[in-house]
Amino acid sequence: MKDVIRSLFILTILLFLISCTESDQQKTEFGLVLHGGAGSIYKGRFTAEEEKIYEDKIKEALNAGYEILKNNGTSIEAVTKVITILEDSPLFNAGKGAVLNSEGKVELDASIMSGKDLTVGAVARLSKIKNPILLANAVKDKSKHVFLIGDGAEIFAVEQGFEFVENEYFLTPEKLESFNKIKAEEKAKVQSSIQKNEEFKYGTVGCAALDKEGNLAAGTSTGGIMNKRYGRVGDSPIIGAGTYANNTTCAISATGQGEYFIRGVVAHDISSLMEYKGMNLKEASKKVINEKLKTLGGKGGIIAIDRYGNIADPFNTEGMFRGYILDDGTPVVKFYKED
Ligand code: ASP
Repeated sequence: MKDVIRSLFILTILLFLISCTESDQQKTEFGLVLHGGAGSIYKGRFTAEEEKIYEDKIKEALNAGYEILKNNGTSIEAVTKVITILEDSPLFNAGKGAVLNSEGKVELDASIMSGKDLTVGAVARLSKIKNPILLANAVKDKSKHVFLIGDGAEIFAVEQGFEFVENEYFLTPEKLESFNKIKAEEKAKVQSSIQKNEEFKYGTVGCAALDKEGNLAAGTSTGGIMNKRYGRVGDSPIIGAGTYANNTTCAISATGQGEYFIRGVVAHDISSLMEYKGMNLKEASKKVINEKLKTLGGKGGIIAIDRYGNIADPFNTEGMFRGYILDDGTPVVKFYKED
């Protein structure tokens, strides 16, 4: 009996050591992972043509980031390029195609963080900046502050020579239609499906990257939540909640019900479990998304890459638009849980 117990003990130790070395081995020289939002994304919701449109756009963004990293570009450059492509696409809830607030206007939030030196830039409540992620990056590099909002952020953007658009530029027929539906339901005093969280919307975008120098970076950009109260800000521009990067651990971008991600300090929590508890990326991110966030009652997910190039993408919704590309240059795109 004693021998059996001893063998089991040795086997457990061996399995533990194998799992540690596996996640500690360099998986790729460089790579990146992105998301296009989590939510009611389930098989059958989209036609094959619609799936293809999403897949192509995600691949375009992955390939553009890959080219930058392959040609010795930085993880920050890859993250801003990837997110700019997704912001310019009407498919996602960021930049063009963003959701509307309760006043029928678009208000955009974004943030970016460098894992090399923990520098950050964040912006919120933008109504006229075409690419919020670029302004967040300018706040990081060219401002003595880390977070600018509303008019103040846009005055800074004028000084920095940024491209301005009318608020109408961001509106798409699909987003207008669902906004009008909610407003009609509100008027009829029917609790809307979105307010009941049954139809939790998707489309925020984010990216995390590892470059050849071993530097990590993460960024997130969003229009927030449909029919959000005027002035509401979610987790996406909050460093530590929706975005975090640290070369000693990982780079993370979150998507989901921002209020819960702020309360759970989700992105930083994952990094902390790695830094202070020695967990690997998969364990840490699963714990926070499937246990802590779930207990709080929040829905959503994250994408992350660690310094070895391990990727994690846990979510507790039906699906999450996501994809990654490593140094072999093969883009991988996934939508659903069972993918
Ligand atoms: N997290 C975003 C927010 O709460 C929304 C989303 O990811 O879909 O503003």
